Amino acid sequence: MPTMPDRTAVQNDPQSQSRKAGEQLYHFHGGLRLRHNKKISCATPVEKVPLANCYFVPLLQQAGQSAEPVVTQGQKVLKGDLLGVLNDPGTGLIHAPTSGTVTAISNHPNSQPSGQDGRCIVIRPDGLDQWKTLEPVEDWERTDPAVLREKIRMSGIVGLGGAVFPTGVKIEEARSRGIHTLVLNGSECEPYISCDEMLMREAPDSIILGARILQKSVGAVRTVIAIEDQMGVVNSALTDAVRRSGVTDIDVVKVTTIYPEGGEKQLIRVLTGLEVPSGGRPTDLGLLVQNVATATAVARAVTEDKPLVERIVTVTGNGVRRPRNLLAQMGTPVSNLIDLCGGYAEGAARLILGGPMMGYALSSDRNPVIKAANCILVLTEDDIRPLQPEMPCIRCGECARVCPAILLPQELNWTIRNGVWADVPDLGLSDCIECGCCDFVCPSHIPLTAWFRFGKSEMRSLEKERRSAEAARQRFEARESRLAQLKEERKQRIENKKLALGTGNDKQKKISAAIDRVRSRHGRDS
Ligand code: SF4
Ligand code: SF4
Repeated sequence: MPTMPDRTAVQNDPQSQSRKAGEQLYHFHGGLRLRHNKKISCATPVEKVPLANCYFVPLLQQAGQSAEPVVTQGQKVLKGDLLGVLNDPGTGLIHAPTSGTVTAISNHPNSQPSGQDGRCIVIRPDGLDQWKTLEPVEDWERTDPAVLREKIRMSGIVGLGGAVFPTGVKIEEARSRGIHTLVLNGSECEPYISCDEMLMREAPDSIILGARILQKSVGAVRTVIAIEDQMGVVNSALTDAVRRSGVTDIDVVKVTTIYPEGGEKQLIRVLTGLEVPSGGRPTDLGLLVQNVATATAVARAVTEDKPLVERIVTVTGNGVRRPRNLLAQMGTPVSNLIDLCGGYAEGAARLILGGPMMGYALSSDRNPVIKAANCILVLTEDDIRPLQPEMPCIRCGECARVCPAILLPQELNWTIRNGVWADVPDLGLSDCIECGCCDFVCPSHIPLTAWFRFGKSEMRSLEKERRSAEAARQRFEARESRLAQLKEERKQRIENKKLALGTGNDKQKKISAAIDRVRSRHGRDS
């Protein structure tokens, strides 16, 4: 049976802590070399998707909870106006992708993994695509970093690599914890997806500008942009952009293409040789990782005051006639993108949001483009592996060999399936990045990643139950202590009264005197 590898050895090496990111490259554990299949969507420049007839803007577009609408049916909005926000300030901000009228706030397919409908703001465009009044930061280089962070926060930017964690929250945490290096993640390792590669080719200056703004806003001293070694002209495009910007603290580093190198922790391992501690974050090592597209969104937010209302989406796969990259506004129906790519090819059978390893199926092309939509992959019948019957685990250890999070997937799988929830945290479930490598190699066709997703949701439910039980216990204890206090106060009051009346003898004397007084009064009267 394979044993758990030592996941702390590298992070505890004091010499490694002083390494400069990207100076020397390392390997992360496991991973897979997969066919890229990216070239098919990189042949033509990025094309802007024309205005749609109707936009369905989901209120849930970030990791966590859904936003609440701040507009009402019938209200006119301009492009960039706020549509929704979470109570928790700084997260869940959703903006109008174009100008028009809010015709409904209703349930609609919302491109989430659950496949269930969710609340969307429906906008009928007026055709003008008119921006709200824009108030860009005048001179960002002389602007207080706190002002830059606030601008980023209010722009509804989330991690565009797929994690969709609110960037405003992430940079605020990075600033408070102290960051020395910003890592821009351009290593888009999942097959088929090429939106970041096209962005780096076509808009390198905007990425460098975003990197500089991010660097200033968190107080980092340098930036490393990681790209894959098979990305051709991207290296020269970015290097030239760095030169044009005149800065010397941004380096472009080529990393070997191995899936899932684009994972935050895996990339840090490759660039620094350090392991992010289990349950920890890159900020524990003084690093902040952002996707290259996120950097562009930051540049637009600060220097143009334009919130995140559009993104590049790769539309690809054998099931679409002309694969390409499109600049699409959030809320655009996926069918519009497919049409722009010449429609479905013969045999098109399944729509996936994301790549073939980590993506999830969409129920139909009525689903809208969301912030997480880096790719719409159209698979044909031939692409879809026939579902193999699951067989018992033969303890071959292949899943552990390829796991980039250095877990023991077979153990984790057994523990989750048998509901031994107390052991799950120690087996590192929270470190599983759901990359699907273990599934890919499992000869017994065990749907390991699906079990890990289920395990995470169960753990979240158990944690919720634990918290509500804890809250109930605290409420009970508070009530008991309040009652005990009231009882004590009452007792004290009685004691005080007794004292006021004096001791037992005193009391008796006072009562006898009172009776005598009454009798003598009666005697006089008779
Ligand atoms: S790869 Fe599959 S069969 Fe092999 S140990 Fe892992 S779960 Fe078991
Ligand atoms: S899905 Fe999780 S357990 Fe499986 S290889 Fe990826 S990180 Fe490891």
